[in-house]
Amino acid sequence: MSQIRTALKTYFGFDAFLEGQEEAVHSVIEERLDTVVIMPTGSGKSLCYQLTAMLLDGVTLVISPLIALMKDQVDALEARGLPATFINSSLSLEEMTERMQSMRDGSYKLVYVAPERFRNNYFMDLLKRVEVSMVAVDEAHCISQWGHDFRPDYLRLKHVLQEFAGTRVMALTATATAEVREDIIANLGLGQEGRNAPSIFVFGFARPNLSIKVSRAASHDVKLEHTLDAVRNYRTGIVYCSTRKNVERVFKLLDKEGLQVGFYHGGMSDGEREETQNKFMEKKVPVVVATNAFGMGVDRDDLRFIVHWDIPGSLEAYYQEIGRAGRDGEDAFCDLLYNYADVKTQEFFIEGANPMKETIEETLKVIRKRCSHGPANMSVSDWAANIHSTNNEMAVQTAMYILERAGLIVREVESGSRTRMIDVLTDAPMEPLREQFVVMGNKRQRDRARLQAMLDYVDTRDCRHNYILNYFGEPGQSLSCDTCDICVPFVSETARPPDEKEWEVIQKILSCVARLSDRFGKTRIAQVLIGSKAKPVVSANLHEHRTYGLLSGYPENYVKALIDELVRDGSISVSRGEYPLLKITPRGKEVAWQNEVPRLDFPDLNKASRGASKRGRVTAEHVDYDPLLFEKLRVWRNGICRTRGIPAYLVLADKSLRAIAAAQPDSFAELEQIWGLGANKLKQFGDDILAIVDEH
Ligand code: ADP
Repeated sequence: MSQIRTALKTYFGFDAFLEGQEEAVHSVIEERLDTVVIMPTGSGKSLCYQLTAMLLDGVTLVISPLIALMKDQVDALEARGLPATFINSSLSLEEMTERMQSMRDGSYKLVYVAPERFRNNYFMDLLKRVEVSMVAVDEAHCISQWGHDFRPDYLRLKHVLQEFAGTRVMALTATATAEVREDIIANLGLGQEGRNAPSIFVFGFARPNLSIKVSRAASHDVKLEHTLDAVRNYRTGIVYCSTRKNVERVFKLLDKEGLQVGFYHGGMSDGEREETQNKFMEKKVPVVVATNAFGMGVDRDDLRFIVHWDIPGSLEAYYQEIGRAGRDGEDAFCDLLYNYADVKTQEFFIEGANPMKETIEETLKVIRKRCSHGPANMSVSDWAANIHSTNNEMAVQTAMYILERAGLIVREVESGSRTRMIDVLTDAPMEPLREQFVVMGNKRQRDRARLQAMLDYVDTRDCRHNYILNYFGEPGQSLSCDTCDICVPFVSETARPPDEKEWEVIQKILSCVARLSDRFGKTRIAQVLIGSKAKPVVSANLHEHRTYGLLSGYPENYVKALIDELVRDGSISVSRGEYPLLKITPRGKEVAWQNEVPRLDFPDLNKASRGASKRGRVTAEHVDYDPLLFEKLRVWRNGICRTRGIPAYLVLADKSLRAIAAAQPDSFAELEQIWGLGANKLKQFGDDILAIVDEH
């Protein structure tokens, strides 16, 4: 190990390894094993292969999917005086030849290439004359059909690797699900034909500095309110949307508020995208609204928030995106704005990526007919207009790709053109297409399962950090944290227990929900309670229900906002589906009996009557604690919030302060027992708190 540690200092100037790095390097260098490294974005994966490369004789080939990023990586290595280069299509022929010669002469330890490079015979010949000691496959999930960035060129790597039987392989990715992992191993041929089974490392998925939360957002207005909160409180971050249309819409909304924002999506020109990315990286723009196209290569470590305007299609994507926040280790805030209607967009994407058998068959039929007298040059939308089994253009595009893969059609790509020349291959066998149906069916199922896991995450009542860690297969975590909305449900500083009158209101709401359990949504329940004469109420005979008019005189908005709060509190659950139905939970029953005390952000009654639902202020408390000490702790806490510009609960929620004011701990061991004081906060604030208690 010491040789590896010395090399870390010599080549990179770092004194210590980040979690997992040493194990990965050791596995290749000392144990001579193929190695799969699964670590989240920003956790130092690159160093694993870069340091290994420096320790091996010969050259390491780094397969990287993004030509645009190679230069940055190589520049960074050169700045450390490490011999590295890249060979890709951005070079002139002379430069390329020169670099290849230098590679043969042994001038480089690391050579970055895109997977397409292996199609080049000249390059393949060159490799035969070079000592390739390791092949590092970066972003290895690109080789998996279940990875979100599947790249067919990666499949070629297996055959390339067969030519380098003695060469070690290190595959690296941030996507850790079992399926992707198995695919990486199988598609690279690890553990096959003379290769030993690889060693696999999963490290670093715990991100306790990320405060994660799911907010139910019934409308765009609510989403905007949350987004503005995030931008104003945390200043630097990314708002992710699932479609280009939403990116533009949200950008306009934020821009109208006078905020400094950029936007980024796949429909923009390369130049426009580069401009946004550069401005963001150079810290000229603090916020970018973007689709998931934005991120690979965003290497800014000071992002303080990530907002998901729409639900992502998988926990992998979600985790990767929130993982871009707080890379400097400081606290960061992540808010997922959930509205069931948005799930439809993801379902649309799933259909688009995995067209039904009928669509593929119909596409073939239409192409055969159209091309019966020769090739046709048409855009995808024109083809899609003739295909009736789907109205999803993306599905037609994928269907064409599948037909091409199955050897039934050929497409000629003209760069820069939106149309493609297509021709049919007559007499081609149908068997490969049948195989594709099976593959496609499996993939559709898995994509749906991944979306389901994402939805389960939204609904979970367990610690969100734990849910994620379990999903990614990193074991050995504790059961609760102090940075998710489940473990610290009272995230709002203004949340408080109800006063007497409010208790009554809550009990009436819960009683109505219990009696109409699982049959109606929020609006209908609120209408029943306020005694509305709206048509749907009367036509469902709800005006005769025994809870009808229990809250007459209250504004509908107020009741609806309180129902939202009770959902957040866990007293009411909301079913999934197009029409979300309310149901009382076991906790809700306890609250109804006043055995449990909810802490809610009470809507402002006056403002609700004018249509808004703004927050109320803190009043009554009823836990047995020293109020003076609590006040001192609050003053201290609020001071930190002001200097750091972060909200109270990221320092310590009132609930924790009250618990401290009750227990009055005089040691770290006692302090550790306090609710909400995890290791991270203990380290940051422990001394301060003990001093305040002691002085008091
Ligand atoms: P990944 O490839 O996993 O996204 P990177 O390799 O880009 O992450 O590393 C993230 C950051 O961590 C980089 O700025 C890198 O220089 C830094 N880093 C990597 N290893 C160490 C280390 N042992 N000590 C300190 N910083 C490190």
